[in-house]
Amino acid sequence: MPTQPRLIVATRNRHKTAEIRAMLGDRFEVLDATAFPELPEIAETGSTFLANATLKAEGISRRVAGWVLADDSGLEVDALGGAPGVWSSSFGGEEGNHAKNNARLITAMADKPARQARFRCTMVLAKDGSAAADFCGTVEGTLSDSPRGAGGFGYDPLFIPDGYEQTFGELGETVKNRLSHRARALAQAVSWLDTHPQ
Ligand code: IMP
Repeated sequence: MPTQPRLIVATRNRHKTAEIRAMLGDRFEVLDATAFPELPEIAETGSTFLANATLKAEGISRRVAGWVLADDSGLEVDALGGAPGVWSSSFGGEEGNHAKNNARLITAMADKPARQARFRCTMVLAKDGSAAADFCGTVEGTLSDSPRGAGGFGYDPLFIPDGYEQTFGELGETVKNRLSHRARALAQAVSWLDTHPQ
């Protein structure tokens, strides 16, 4: 059996890595930043998903060999003017605290009849410190008024993708990984890798 090409995901978010690994199957050997304890934390100082994904992809690919894939993603709520957007992971006041993020979102949406939102994912592929390509995936949906379901992570218990009545938290990983923002960006990244030398 030919050896799998290696893809290093520039994240320590185990949920993102698990989704990317599940979606790629055995196409790639997927590692993430937790496999390289010496790697620094890359500060996400950009004000766009693309800027932050580029910072992460270039920063990590300067230090490891092979293709590096970075994912910067978040939730855009129309009634909140696109917030929390790039600040999705700290919306509740504490970086990466999903319960606080969801609680703040529920409060912010309490008096809002328009519930449209989308997840957006920007992925950047980089090698040897330089970004080579970027990809964007979105999934449209509406927000429920209380969390439902234990699947996924982040805002998944509040997000009902268009065409469904359950949240990503209730739908589970097989459905989410078929239609998510991350799935859509990743499909483009894989097509790009298929046509470029490993
Ligand atoms: P990042 O690590 O800066 O890309 O932040 C991503 C943040 O956006 C996460 O902490 C979540 O709050 C949110 N997010 C991104 N993707 C998803 C998803 O697939 N489901 C739920 N929340 C997500």
